[in-house]
Amino acid sequence: MTPNTAASIRSGNNNESALKWNLKLGRILGIDVYLHVTFLLLLGLIASAHAVAGGSLAAGLNSVTFLAAIFLCVLLHEFGHALIARRLNACR
Ligand SMILES: [Zn+2]
Repeated sequence: MTPNTAASIRSGNNNESALKWNLKLGRILGIDVYLHVTFLLLLGLIASAHAVAGGSLAAGLNSVTFLAAIFLCVLLHEFGHALIARRLNACR
């Protein structure tokens, strides 16, 4: 559970505040997929760190692509949780 989620559960307006900083990427298999804006900041940080360090554009793009691949792996992992929970009727 992220700190943002914990804070929003405490405040009682779970959906509204938790989703404020999320960008909806779409809906896959009936599950909404969101991207937190801090992930985009992380991509920008990685890219600018390469630029500041004098790295090539290709090296910067490689790092950003690598981070996006990690995001995809985490997304697939979380889909595993969600689909198993749905299968076991654990969503209620
Ligand atoms: Zn897990």
